[in-house]
Amino acid sequence: MVQDKFISHLKDNSLYFFEKAMSLFNEDPKLSAVCFSTALELMLKARLAHDHWSLVFDKPENAKLEDAKSGDFISAGPREVIRRLEGISNVIFLDEEKAAYFSLIKRRNAIVHFSEELITKEERERIISTAYQAVYHMHEMMSDSWSDLFSDKKRELWRLSTVLKNFQPYLKQKLKAIKPKLDEAKKAGATVTNCSRCGLKSAVSTKAAEDPCGTLIYVNCLVCSEFDNYLIYNCHNCDTQNIFIGEGDSKECTSCGGILSAESISDDKSNFDRDTFEDDLSYCILCEHHEKHVIPFGDDFLCLNCLELHDTVEFCENCGEPNAGFDAEGSIFSGCVMCEGRDF
Ligand SMILES: [Zn+2]
Ligand SMILES: [Zn+2]
Ligand SMILES: [Zn+2]
Ligand SMILES: [Zn+2]
Repeated sequence: MVQDKFISHLKDNSLYFFEKAMSLFNEDPKLSAVCFSTALELMLKARLAHDHWSLVFDKPENAKLEDAKSGDFISAGPREVIRRLEGISNVIFLDEEKAAYFSLIKRRNAIVHFSEELITKEERERIISTAYQAVYHMHEMMSDSWSDLFSDKKRELWRLSTVLKNFQPYLKQKLKAIKPKLDEAKKAGATVTNCSRCGLKSAVSTKAAEDPCGTLIYVNCLVCSEFDNYLIYNCHNCDTQNIFIGEGDSKECTSCGGILSAESISDDKSNFDRDTFEDDLSYCILCEHHEKHVIPFGDDFLCLNCLELHDTVEFCENCGEPNAGFDAEGSIFSGCVMCEGRDF
């Protein structure tokens, strides 16, 4: 019980200082760096306390439960906490991660002990870069390797990720850190382009599905997590490849001038496959578009409105309409895109 409460306080305060650091970043970089460093220290202590609360004390052998409850004790310094995490808790830190943490701790001391005027522009930039290297690793720890420990803080972590996505210095540090992942994706045949959101060259495009009428592409930015998808559609008149983005996209084919829209593509598709299925179009349970814009696509079904790829189409037990991405069981009561279900 004491253990749980103790860890909970450490996590809450770590996230509090993390958010504070972000909000102060432009207005007061000095205080922001101190907050980052405090957030780091508390995050590491939360992990250490997960093994035992007394490990956070400067001298665990003298640790008293009463002091842990009141918070009235001298705690181990950040370097010692890292040493204990490695030696006792068997935590493995990446070299660059540990270097970033040590660097932030060192700079924090310099910032706290010396006057603002002594900090040169270059030094300030180094502080920012160091802080963001540490921030990147901290955020990864909380949301990935230590996600079990932080599982009750999902909302706070989500809020942090949203803020971090808009911080260019952070994104640049993350780009450096994920370079091996980008190289791996390229080796596997993916294309890497500039992301439409953060502008960095970190958007990985992969083929999600193929059909005689075109290819569905997924674009995933490994830095800011922006996700996008589009269809490379082979024009039914002239076979020229055109980009179709869904969501009401309507344009002329770049070669023959024929109209390309969700309507024209689904008409084309149903004419093409008329012998095999008359009623091959269905509604999409995800975007709930009021027209049947889901077409058979390769082995799956593609919604031409939201470009979601569904693996099933099932018929509503109440109105009999086909719905993609739908579990028809119980739909007699719950209904579907086109009906409200039945009251009994
Ligand atoms: Zn991005
Ligand atoms: Zn054409
Ligand atoms: Zn849809
Ligand atoms: Zn229905």
